[in-house]
Amino acid sequence: MERLMILIGLIMIAAGVLPQAAEGGSGQRSNIIFMVPDGMGLAQVTAARIFRNGPDGPPLAMETLEVIGCQRTHSADSTVTDSAAAASAWAMGEKFNNGELSCHSGADPFCRNQLPTILEMAKARGKATGLVVTSQISDATPAAFAAHVRSRRCEAEIVRQYLEAAEVDVILGGGLGQRRDSCPDYPISFAWPDRQAALLRLARTKGYQTVAGKAALHATIREGKVKILGMFEQNRRDKGKTPEMFRVDASLGYPEDEPTLAEMTTAALTVLEKDADGFFLLVEGSRIDWSSHANDLRGQIAETLAFDEALKVVLGWVAAKPGRKETTLIIVAPDHETGGLAINGPDGRLAQAGEFIKEGWAGRGHSATDTIIRSQGPGSDQLGKAVDNTDIYRSWQTPLVFDAGKSTVFSGRRPLRHIDVSFVGIALGAIENGDMTDHSNHLRGGFLFE
Ligand SMILES: [Zn+2]
Repeated sequence: MERLMILIGLIMIAAGVLPQAAEGGSGQRSNIIFMVPDGMGLAQVTAARIFRNGPDGPPLAMETLEVIGCQRTHSADSTVTDSAAAASAWAMGEKFNNGELSCHSGADPFCRNQLPTILEMAKARGKATGLVVTSQISDATPAAFAAHVRSRRCEAEIVRQYLEAAEVDVILGGGLGQRRDSCPDYPISFAWPDRQAALLRLARTKGYQTVAGKAALHATIREGKVKILGMFEQNRRDKGKTPEMFRVDASLGYPEDEPTLAEMTTAALTVLEKDADGFFLLVEGSRIDWSSHANDLRGQIAETLAFDEALKVVLGWVAAKPGRKETTLIIVAPDHETGGLAINGPDGRLAQAGEFIKEGWAGRGHSATDTIIRSQGPGSDQLGKAVDNTDIYRSWQTPLVFDAGKSTVFSGRRPLRHIDVSFVGIALGAIENGDMTDHSNHLRGGFLFE
């Protein structure tokens, strides 16, 4: 009975706070394509461009975007941000502490009554949504847009929220993270013996087509599926995707049945463009950061070039039809720089195409420097100057960006939460406390104990 009351109450809450769906039809649809080269500073761009095109060669695709500005990156509690706080600042328009994902650490453990992220706002307005990354899909950058947890360690819970709460349409990346650290707010989900298998079962019950290879991804798109969960990885422990090292070393192969970042981006656009209300798509070159953490210049250049290929796909998609350029905001924004990369040399000579420039690293962590924002399309006029990372969220409030003529989209921003999050969160907490009398039946009937 108690469970029924909670359920009814939450349904009523949800019904009362959900914003109206987009009107559709009359307005011009708009799209946001937000692209994150994680950990990419300006030195990383220079090194990649010289390797690919030489010192006087053509620009990288990202260097062709029309509006250039820069952003402060600090988090609420640190001069040096992590990816969780930085992505939360973009997604929510306010500063967060390092480690937090669109939910402040002082909040209710299950993050009830949080304001919606930009992705959730887009969803509520009828737009399709997508997350495309080369890290594990549960990593901090995508998570901040489609989940609310107090700690980035809660990776199984993050993906559960993608599927049950945010209902992201297209999710493509590595597998599920295998962090050894505990997730204090969701101890049961942390303890699942096979969390990835459980989440795949959950995805299928929610109407997702689950895929693990490139051929299956293409087949799924040909069939016209609109909800896709793709976890691609080669059984590595970190569950990120295979590094795209073939971009700097032609002798190296890439797994035949694993899509590259550019291929995943093509796949996502093919699905999302079908939505008459437009879409929000996040694309992250996650491993630029990982390579820089390892002070691996070759890997960093390879991943930067892989990211640039994904941007070429996006620019090609925009150019393919009249009107897309005017209605699609593209932003390329690194969350922070990683490694403190400085480049010089080689020894008084002009470096040539194909050369790995001489490098020096300040460390193996993130650095505090501002990062460059490159953009084009509606709303980008607000980003051609020095801004804070929270200002990117504000650029999304432009009526033209979010939906032509709908200027009140953000003024009505109210809690959008989250019947599923609350219910399962409560249930998991009850089990942890030894109180399984009520919610255990629900859980036994669900995916946890299948
Ligand atoms: Zn990092």
